[in-house]
Amino acid sequence: MASAPPMETATLVGHPPPPSYEEALGSNLMYPPGPYPPPADMKGPVPPYPTQAYGQAYPPPPPPQQGQPVTSPVVSVQTVYVQPGLVFGTVPVQAHCPVCVQNVITRLEYTSGALVWLSCAGLAIFGCIYGCCLIPFCVDNLKDVIHHCPNCSSVLGFYRRI
Ligand SMILES: [Zn+2]
Repeated sequence: MASAPPMETATLVGHPPPPSYEEALGSNLMYPPGPYPPPADMKGPVPPYPTQAYGQAYPPPPPPQQGQPVTSPVVSVQTVYVQPGLVFGTVPVQAHCPVCVQNVITRLEYTSGALVWLSCAGLAIFGCIYGCCLIPFCVDNLKDVIHHCPNCSSVLGFYRRI
């Protein structure tokens, strides 16, 4: 039978071991709290029942700091002003159409770019040769994005994955 892991002994390192059950029971029966002084042999190598020692070994937790508020992670909301014609991502942006001469929200069109072809080649290398390698052509998150003007469908910008 495997013995239990020495977890209890590890927590009591540096403290005197508690007396056995017979010793504790015998001391209570033989010497109840009263005018009787403790026996001389109990002050020998066997320490008395360390009721106070355990209390010192485990100090009470610090009192909660009431005056100090609970610190929460500061979430800073930054407003990003996208300048038209400069930054095009995967979401429609407000851009200035030079054809319509007005500010519009771009319309997205997904086209197969380099990342789609690389994904297709990677799937083919790993054995997906029976049509599974064509899956990237159906995933918009792998495609490049073309921003069109919703009014005149002119191309306003590109977003390339690679
Ligand atoms: Zn336009």
